[in-house]
Amino acid sequence: MGITSDSMARLSRRALHRQALAWALAPWCLAPQARAQTGAPRWRQDPFALGVASGQPQASSVVLWTRLLIGPDDAALAQQALTVRCELFADEALRQPLRQWSVSTDASRGHSVHVLAEGLPPGRPFWYRFVCGSAQSRVGRTRTAPAPGQAVARLRMALASCQHFEQGHYVAHREMATEDLDLVLFVGDYLYESSNKAYQLRRHRGGIPTLLEEYRDRHAQYKSDPDLQACHAAHPWVMTWDDHEVVNDYANDRDVRFTDPAVFLRRRAAAYQAYFEHMPVRVGPLAQAPHQMRIHDQLLWGRLAQIWTLDTRQYRDHHACPDPLRGGGRPVVGCDAVQDPARSLLGEAQEAWLTQGLRQGGAQWSLIGQSTLMASAGLDTPLGRTHYTDGWDGYVPSRDRLLATIEEVRLKDVVVLGGDVHAHFAAVLRRRANDPASPVLASELVCTSVSSRGPGAALLSRMQAANPDLLHARGDERGYIRLDITPQALHADMRGTPAPALPGSVLRSQARWVVPSGQAGPQRAA
Ligand code: FE
Ligand code: CA
Repeated sequence: MGITSDSMARLSRRALHRQALAWALAPWCLAPQARAQTGAPRWRQDPFALGVASGQPQASSVVLWTRLLIGPDDAALAQQALTVRCELFADEALRQPLRQWSVSTDASRGHSVHVLAEGLPPGRPFWYRFVCGSAQSRVGRTRTAPAPGQAVARLRMALASCQHFEQGHYVAHREMATEDLDLVLFVGDYLYESSNKAYQLRRHRGGIPTLLEEYRDRHAQYKSDPDLQACHAAHPWVMTWDDHEVVNDYANDRDVRFTDPAVFLRRRAAAYQAYFEHMPVRVGPLAQAPHQMRIHDQLLWGRLAQIWTLDTRQYRDHHACPDPLRGGGRPVVGCDAVQDPARSLLGEAQEAWLTQGLRQGGAQWSLIGQSTLMASAGLDTPLGRTHYTDGWDGYVPSRDRLLATIEEVRLKDVVVLGGDVHAHFAAVLRRRANDPASPVLASELVCTSVSSRGPGAALLSRMQAANPDLLHARGDERGYIRLDITPQALHADMRGTPAPALPGSVLRSQARWVVPSGQAGPQRAA
């Protein structure tokens, strides 16, 4: 039933319309009610209550997602394999059907549906929806990336992270949903496993998840938020994760309690499986090793930009100099392991893959999406400088190898995009941090959290005093960063609203930064 991307690209608008009319007469284009066969489920509760999403857009493909949520009134359906139809359209009015897929899903995958829509024409929007028996989902909008090598006038995207459900409302997503964006880059802490009783505007259902059913339920609760659903339905998302999708401060096969790795990896497998079931991503956990799931990825936006998403959790070496009673990250002084070149935040294979990709180039702007602040942010103490062991400061040679590659290849227009620290940061990246004699090699922008509580102003000003490379650091507002990228410059608008984000909160511009092409380092914009 499909058509090739070539034939698609050649179709003019009018031809598309004519073709659509022909398709409209095809038997599979009847209204959904007419198509419901005997045995097709008649739902009492909306199975599409978690919404729809799309992600990992490439020039010829995009992932379309939904998950059937089976309520108690439809419990009998939970044990059956269910067929879901996914429909793709060329227009918002859904008059021009392009493709459809029929997908079977069942309880083994939490009734999630992932459709890899392939063979699509590059650089254009699409609309999609799902149908199962008597139920029909909302309509989502997505798009494909421009063709590789194509000149592109602009890329508009949002950078977001850290959306603790209890600690605030998703007004950032509400705004992003209404923006004219090509994509949302979400860099981690999509959900939180834990609670802080001091900061609860709304409540998690259930306790701290460790089992698959519990992680599923946590994801389902997050996805029940209408603002988050609207943002997923409005734009394709490009995603990576951080720690809280599994548990705070985990590193590879180790959690902060030094749980037996075999036991912890079962928990990680449950969390990864639930993550996959709820996200518009191409691949899930490996069948033969369910605690492994590839999330790091790369995408080209024509000749304009190349976006990497890195995984800083799954493959990293354990934290340097941990507290033997409570592992995880902490500030340390005089810990030699943070300088050990054998240690890596990305793991050897991912580091090699990134290095090779940077050497190859392929587009003007290199945007490196990853979970946390990359710039050095230690504090000065009488005993020496602190290194926070959960971030890049705990893996100094790993960062240095990345910056060395950028320097060696003379890569221009590199911007690192991060999250995790719950504060808007702008920074410059040099081989020797904070040394004005060391040239600026890349720019860094870190978005504040969507909702998670931020650090105090006193800590951030101490950080800035000890690190002149940190040009901007504010943790008092919740929000995201809007990025507008052209061949001439990258413009960043740090959106924010005073914390906590309340249902009626409105975002405004906290600061604007610009990175002109060819001049590494963000500059304050008017
Ligand atoms: Fe966070
Ligand atoms: Ca985090």
